[in-house]
Formats: sequence, structure tokens, C-alpha cells
Amino acid sequence: MNSFEREIRAIIETEGPIPVSRYMALCLSDPRHGYYTTRDPLGAAGDFTTAPEISQMFGELIGLWCAEVWRAMGAPRLFCLAELGPGRGTLMKDLLRAAKVVPDFARAAEIHLIETSPVLTERQKHTLAETGARIHWHANADSLPEGPLIAVANEFVDALPIDQFVKTKEGWRERRVGIAGGKLAFGLDQAIVPGIAESLPPRLRKAFADSVLERRDLAPLRGLARRVVKFGGAALIVDYGHRRTTLAHTLQAVRAHEFADPLELPGEADLTSLVDFEALANTVGALGAKPCGPIAQGVFLRRLGIEPRAQRLKQNADPKTRADIDAALHRLVGEQPRQMGELFKAFAFTHPELPAPPAFDS
Ligand code: SAH
Repeated sequence: MNSFEREIRAIIETEGPIPVSRYMALCLSDPRHGYYTTRDPLGAAGDFTTAPEISQMFGELIGLWCAEVWRAMGAPRLFCLAELGPGRGTLMKDLLRAAKVVPDFARAAEIHLIETSPVLTERQKHTLAETGARIHWHANADSLPEGPLIAVANEFVDALPIDQFVKTKEGWRERRVGIAGGKLAFGLDQAIVPGIAESLPPRLRKAFADSVLERRDLAPLRGLARRVVKFGGAALIVDYGHRRTTLAHTLQAVRAHEFADPLELPGEADLTSLVDFEALANTVGALGAKPCGPIAQGVFLRRLGIEPRAQRLKQNADPKTRADIDAALHRLVGEQPRQMGELFKAFAFTHPELPAPPAFDS
């Protein structure tokens, strides 16, 4: 048992079993022990590798996507270019380099990064120093400035805490983290939670016993949607998840590139769950934003021209670099069910009058 587990047990002993969202928020963002608060988890030596860390092509294509959206917005002379959960800052660095082909876009962009982790904030400062851009950091999206907005987020939504509900004979009950047999353990709260079945798409209302519903607090995305509707703009969300709401337990822990028990060594593994893109689309749609997609990441990147980009990068490269570019391309767009190109989806939402953004228009 680590010292953080002792603290979590003390909370449970005084307050009773805690919601999964509380457990997840503690594990990921506790100021002293949280997973993201205390480390840079990315890359081969870390716990997991993300698309921008696999290849510069990912951030570059998103940079061109943003520049095109900015043009469609009427090329505002000043706008907020925001990234949520920027990790090492690699996506933003590649995005800004590629966007130099549209100098007015780069000049108009005011960069805002939303990040909770002090360790990663330092890392972002380091990565982005060479861009010369003036960058503002925020602990959450509420303090973004008012005005036109283009926002991007890769593997951010999956880390937003979820609650879990389980269908029983009597109705839906909340799953909580308590203590059983001397260990942290999942259990069901006694109370029946009202209104769950009614909140589901009709096809899921007659769920079988033991079905699990995961519901995520999408507050940061609601904030983006309100801004996009009020001031104009768009947001691009890339993450792994389901196109439609699915009744499944998908909370998972990953440590050193392997699955781990989410209740073991809290704060030492990444905790995520699949994004429910149907719920996301409904949430932003209800606020007046126009949802686009989701489409598979592989489709998204191909439509943005990742293949010709890879060809360009391979010109004049040595054989090892050429092989690396091919491997990265394959990893990003691979279409087998467990490969990133299919497991990950791209989803956008825009001001209702904006034309469908690149890759979402066909
Ligand atoms: N987008 C990056 C990093 C993904 S990891 C990439 O693709 O490489 C998740 C990122 O989200 C980290 O930067 C983490 O610190 C940040 N994060 C997680 N939860 C957050 C929250 N609630 N608010 C702000 N940032 C958060």
C-alpha cells in the first residue's frame, strides 16, 4: 500500500464509500499525490505514448486544420488558440510550425494552454520556448478570454472523471469505491438513482442486469461550446471512445505501457475511460453548437493528407528515418479494431453557421 492509499482510506472511513469520479479526480489531480501532478507520464520511458509523441505529422495536420477553420471564421485579427491537456507541448509546437504557412493566422493567434500539472506546465514552457509565442496558462477552461476561439484537445477528455452506475433488479445504483477485505474495492450504493433510464437513448432503456453506464462531467467542454456559440469558432477533440453510448465498464489503469488494477497503487497509474461521443455531441448540441463526426482518427488524418505529408518527409531521409516515418504512419492510421486509427476518433463542434471543418466535410 502506498501513502496515498492510506489517505484515500482515511477519507472513505470518515465519509463512506466515494463516487468513482471522486476517486479518479484524486488519483489524477491530487495536488500532492496525483498522477499528472507529480510526473510526466508520456513517451517510451513513461506509461503511455500519444499521437503527437508518435509523429510530428499529427500536430502539423491539426495546425493546417486550425488555419483553415480560422479562414472560414472570417480570419479574425485576434483569436484564442486553446489547447486542453497539452502534455509535453508537442502538438502545439508542431501545430505552430506548420501554421507558419499562413502567417496571418500565426499573428492573430493568442495561445492559451489549460493544464493542471505543474510538472507538465514546466515541460510545455521548455518545449514551446523555441516558438517565441507568448503563451498563457490556465488551471481550467473557465478563465479563457472572451472572443473567437479555436480549441484542440488530444487525449484530454478520457482523463475527465466519470461516475459509474450499475443496473440492478430494483433499478440503477451508483458504483463507489470503498474498503472490503482490507483492500480498496468497488461496491454498490444502496440508493436507487432516479432518472438514469430516461436519460439514455431509447435503444438502451431496457438494459440487462449488471449493465454499467459511465457518465462524465463534461464541464470544460460545455464551457468551450458556450464560447464557440457566443463568439464564433470551433473545437477539435481527438480521443479513444465509442461513437454511440455503450453500456460497458471501460475504466482502465495503465502503468509502464501495461494494464493495471485501477484500485492498486493509486496515483501511480493513468486512469482513463472511453469517451462517449454520442453524449458529447448531445451535450454541445444542446448548447447550440454544431457537432461534426465523430470519424475514425485514421479517416481524419488521411483526409487531411497524412500520406502525402509522410512522402514529403521521407524525401532525402536516410533509410532508418524512412522506416520510422512509415511505422508512425501505420500506427496513427491503422484500421484494425485495436489500432489507433480506428480506436481513436476525431470529433469537432463549431458555431452553427460555420461550414463543416476540413475532414468533416465529406
Ligand atoms: N494532449 C497530450 C497529453 C495527453 S495526457 C498528448 O496528446 O500528448 C492528458 C493531459 O491532460 C495532461 O497534460 C494532463 O496533465 C492534462 N489533464 C488531465 N486532467 C486535466 C484537467 N482536469 N484539467 C486540465 N488538464 C488536465
